Amino acid sequence: MRRWIALLLALGAALASPRVGLHEGFTRVVLDLPERATYRVLEREGVLLVRLSGYVLEPERVAVKSPELIEYQAKGSELVLRVPPGVEAKAFVLEGTVPGTYRLVVDLRKGAAPVAKKPDPPKPVVVLDPGHGGPDPGAVGYVVEKEVTLDVALRTKRILEARGVRVVLTRDRDADLAPPGEKDLWKRKVMDLKKRASMADAKKTLFVSIHVNSAPRPAAGIETYYLGRAIDPEAQRLAVWENGGGEIGQRLTRETETLTDRVLKDLVAQANLAFSAQLARTLQARLVRAAGSPDRGVHSAPLYVLRYARIPAVLVEVGFANHPTEGRRLARPEHRQRLAEGIAEGILRFLANGAYAFK
Ligand SMILES: [Zn+2]
Repeated sequence: MRRWIALLLALGAALASPRVGLHEGFTRVVLDLPERATYRVLEREGVLLVRLSGYVLEPERVAVKSPELIEYQAKGSELVLRVPPGVEAKAFVLEGTVPGTYRLVVDLRKGAAPVAKKPDPPKPVVVLDPGHGGPDPGAVGYVVEKEVTLDVALRTKRILEARGVRVVLTRDRDADLAPPGEKDLWKRKVMDLKKRASMADAKKTLFVSIHVNSAPRPAAGIETYYLGRAIDPEAQRLAVWENGGGEIGQRLTRETETLTDRVLKDLVAQANLAFSAQLARTLQARLVRAAGSPDRGVHSAPLYVLRYARIPAVLVEVGFANHPTEGRRLARPEHRQRLAEGIAEGILRFLANGAYAFK
């Protein structure tokens, strides 16, 4: 039996479902994990997300009759615990029942201590995506979007790395991500966006796509987006534009809308979207303050680059390229540095809530 379990562990196969124990005053959820599996716990009012790496769970969705736990859903490497308001979680590790394993224990109780993490908390990995590049300049006005986004991303990277956060860039030079042989610009755009989106996988912590806005009528300020249906025509227009513009933009926007409707029915994806919205709000607030720009708010939109994100993912528009004042400000290094500081602060603030290890 022991050897059989060890073999299963070696293969990384699913061992068992989470075990739920109801106790006086608390509910305990236990996962048996192989030693090499790591985990990450994201906590938010109403939802607790346990994200595993190196381990896959038996898919299931189970209602629990407990004052501290409404239901849990296991899917892939994620376990979502839906909890009533006021319930807090404490996660810790116990020795495994068989060699080569450990037990991840999550205790849920009203008014308990905040999430504690063991063994070592994970190091965050942030994906920064400088919008456009190569043959696609993006918005062109007093500045060229692809140049501003790359410069701001590189500046943000330096600030985050100085704080102990690992940063992955989708591009670090003036190029798009399509294969070099592809001559059709529209095909290039689709391949480019797909490649960027695929980098928001579960091995990373969060994804921020950086863009510069433009508008038919004079407008200025900063806005941040997460994936969802567009509520106002402005957000819809922006989605079509950032999804490639013209016919391709329309098509990719429709595709993203269909997928978004499906995503909204899935509890794991819902939890991730809630974290994306939280990241959007934190980032927007810090960025507006650091840059001293008008606050155009947080919105949802069917953005192709965010559609498959397995981690909190947002797209930020740092200003308008064609606004006479803001466009010229976007050309200045001091302003770009302030934008980078605002983005970095927003990211660090969000990470601090998730119990990650950084300075
Ligand atoms: Zn853009």
